[in-house]
Amino acid sequence: MKSITKYQNSVSFTTIDDPQTVKNELFEVFISKLEERKASSIKQEEDYILYKVNFFRFVSNWNLLNTISDGYIHFEITDHQIEVNYQIRFNDIFFISCFMAFASILAGYDIVAKIIIPILIFLIYYGLNVSICILRYKHFIKKTITEYLEKDICSLTKEQEEWIADDSKCDACGATLKPSDKYCQNCGLLVRIDM
Ligand SMILES: [Zn+2]
Repeated sequence: MKSITKYQNSVSFTTIDDPQTVKNELFEVFISKLEERKASSIKQEEDYILYKVNFFRFVSNWNLLNTISDGYIHFEITDHQIEVNYQIRFNDIFFISCFMAFASILAGYDIVAKIIIPILIFLIYYGLNVSICILRYKHFIKKTITEYLEKDICSLTKEQEEWIADDSKCDACGATLKPSDKYCQNCGLLVRIDM
């Protein structure tokens, strides 16, 4: 049964690096991002990051986890593909919305108010908060992964930096080039342009 108090989704990407290493590094990145946003009891269990969000925290209203009561992020590796499954639940705000709707039933002065107002409160308070939370959380997951992958592309090893600075070596693979080479004999990269 699809529950209105939780949201699940997944994103996947392929990597040319060792997927186990990528997974472990992303694990660390996600844990530190959740810590920054004041998630509590963050636990690592096999391929899962589990966390809770205390209702009373000293954070701004714009904190990413505000509407969330708990969640998990799960990593699954198949060959070079990594699938990131995630779930968030909205239990606290759901109970608050129910309470507000119930209070408005009691306070309603006629039958219409007793029906319409609780529904409106629920749709607006719960629906809007949860929708915004889901959008922001999806963005958070994607952005974290993208930033991690981009950082990875830009980080060169010492060895790579040396051969890129050296005109007698191929920029892509580091093979030694002959002055007559137009293409790298090793990887085929175009290395000279005749003017
Ligand atoms: Zn080359």
